[in-house]
Amino acid sequence: MTDIRETVILGSGCAGLTAAIYTARAGLNPLVLEGHEPGGQLSITTLVENFPGWPEGIQGPELIENMKKQAARFGATYQLAHLQSVALNAHPFRLQTSVGEIHARTLIVASGASARWLGLPSEQALIGHGVSSCATCDGFFFRGKEIAVVGGGDSAMEEALFLTRFATKVTLLHRRESFRASKIMLERAIAHPNIELRTNTIVEEVLGAEEKDVRGLRLRDVTNGQKSELKISGLFLGIGHVPNARMFAGQIDLDEDGYIRTMNNVMTTLNGVIVPGVFACGDVQDRRYRQAVTAAGSGCMAALEAEKFLEEHGH
Ligand code: NAP
Repeated sequence: MTDIRETVILGSGCAGLTAAIYTARAGLNPLVLEGHEPGGQLSITTLVENFPGWPEGIQGPELIENMKKQAARFGATYQLAHLQSVALNAHPFRLQTSVGEIHARTLIVASGASARWLGLPSEQALIGHGVSSCATCDGFFFRGKEIAVVGGGDSAMEEALFLTRFATKVTLLHRRESFRASKIMLERAIAHPNIELRTNTIVEEVLGAEEKDVRGLRLRDVTNGQKSELKISGLFLGIGHVPNARMFAGQIDLDEDGYIRTMNNVMTTLNGVIVPGVFACGDVQDRRYRQAVTAAGSGCMAALEAEKFLEEHGH
């Protein structure tokens, strides 16, 4: 017979691991399914300067590792697996995963969000051959080269700044005139001698698909339509993320961009009616704040709701 878990947590980023700490400490022996990107976005970032309690900052992967150990100390277990399908119309919920079927009395969805791509065929063809969405993973390969970063938010600034450790020149391309990035990050990028900012510019094609190696970009200036070529060896995307919630379509409410709609921040609903026992936290339900500390906060809230639900149902 399939084992019934009190709590299954989908995702092992900041939100999922905080939910694991709380539910484990409450004696619920949570099972954390680590998903496609174990550790979530923090595990591929560098210095986190705004997580309270670390006056000098802490490296993202170290922060995640600490959370993982903290939850394990109270009995959380981890499984490298991803969800294939889910049935929320029966209780306990039935989860089909890459390692078999799991039954859960409560489900905490903390599946986060994954990098967004431009969607150009030439970009897709060159992922892993000079096109990347992870500066910390792939920056090292561009030592002594010229590269470009696309985006106008904090992620793009952070990537551009990080990549100056390796690349001789980073051109930051943004589709508009004004930036979404915070003032401090934008100022750092502007002040850096090896970063050049180009606004009102979009990438039309990544050159090098035939050679299977990025050799440049075909760009268009949106103000006058003028096309140009930029010679670079690497392209990094820093254009935001898309929520990992597609597998829940039809079983809980998703908004027009695919984020899980929640009530009281973590309760999920179907047609506005609460789905008992299913909670969502972190970036999969947060289109506004998307910070490590807000993800952690909502992970805590989801865990407390799960605990309350189980108690109310006599478990
Ligand atoms: P974001 O703030 O949503 O910015 C995405 C950027 O990509 C925007 O400038 C957007 O342009 C651009 N973009 C989106 N789709 C595009 C497309 N198809 N083609 C070209 N450009 C496109 O996302 P983010 O930078 O990942 O940041 C997300 C959140 O995490 C924010 O709250 C941010 O503050 C936070 N964060 C903080 C730090 C830090 O404090 N160190 C680091 C990273 C992230 P438009 O502006 O024209 O829409």
